[in-house]
Amino acid sequence: DKLKESKVYMRALFDYTPLEDKATPCQEAGLPFKRGDILQVVSQDDQTWWQAKRVADCNLRAGLVPSKQFQESALNESKCRFVTCFLDSVSAGLRRSFRLSRKDRRGSSGEANVSDQNDTEFLTYEEVTRYQQKPNERPRLVVLIGSLGARINELKQKVIAENPHRYAVAVPHTTRPKKSHEKEGVEYHFVTKQVFDGDAQNNKFIEYGEYKENLYGTSIEAIRSVQAKNKMCLVDVQPEALKALRTAEFKPYVIFVKPRIPESRRRRSAATSPGGAEHGRITEEDLQEMRLSAQQTDQQYGHLVDRVLIKEDTASACAELRSILERLERETFWVPVSWAK
Ligand code: 5GP
Repeated sequence: DKLKESKVYMRALFDYTPLEDKATPCQEAGLPFKRGDILQVVSQDDQTWWQAKRVADCNLRAGLVPSKQFQESALNESKCRFVTCFLDSVSAGLRRSFRLSRKDRRGSSGEANVSDQNDTEFLTYEEVTRYQQKPNERPRLVVLIGSLGARINELKQKVIAENPHRYAVAVPHTTRPKKSHEKEGVEYHFVTKQVFDGDAQNNKFIEYGEYKENLYGTSIEAIRSVQAKNKMCLVDVQPEALKALRTAEFKPYVIFVKPRIPESRRRRSAATSPGGAEHGRITEEDLQEMRLSAQQTDQQYGHLVDRVLIKEDTASACAELRSILERLERETFWVPVSWAK
């Protein structure tokens, strides 16, 4: 049975550097990996250390990686360690008792203890499988997220305008009055605040927000109705919406659009600006804010991202987005196992 090739694949949700891991039984035997790498888990025989290969470099021999359970307990422990530091100044006795309970977590009851802590999400591994969209299947949802300055709505609109038979937006709802050139159900679904609030209460929106005292939001139904026409639906959302969208129904492919931000303003020619957009005068503070925004989005949501698109300018970013979308219909991608059942 053991000789059978493992069919277990995991997407790593954290970076791992064996040389920095004090817990590893053998640093040389460790397999380094980065968040987002796909690992083929060759053996889960040991509760603490799995043997795995990185799929990207096929001939590499297997190395040791922390098991999901062990990594979870380590993360849980570092949370405890923080509490311990805090308690240090309060009582040394209490600290000792904390250490004891930490040790217990490593035992066979570890799993139960960890899942008790459902306030924390442990980013360890996500089991994935290869998935290719079949011709008769509903196209995957394409989700664009962007950090400050990425202007993803513009990108989305351009790519759709070039190919409206294949791509479409989900028509949002709004409470603002309809303008004379607008048509119900084309630019927006125009609704009263009462209707909007009711829909929001009933979780009908994947996201919504206020802009100039009007409410705007995209409904789940709006996405479904695009997909029912067999078109690929493109949405741009705040990254907080990602978790709700990660379902087997939508199988979202998440693209993180990051503007190319120059190192320092002084090195930049006056004619160009980040992301290729016409921003007018951009100060060093603006650039710093954009860097920070990209960093924060990456830290908080990077593990949910399938593809990072560095936006140099609008034209090249559109071309890249177009090619990603074309590949999405033809090629095989890694998705959580629960989506491919
Ligand atoms: P307008 O009223 O000019 O059509 O849109 C104004 C702004 O409303 C847009 O620039 C965008 O920021 C916001 N908006 C439009 N659709 C949505 C949506 O579906 N959700 C959210 N949160 N904001 C939207």
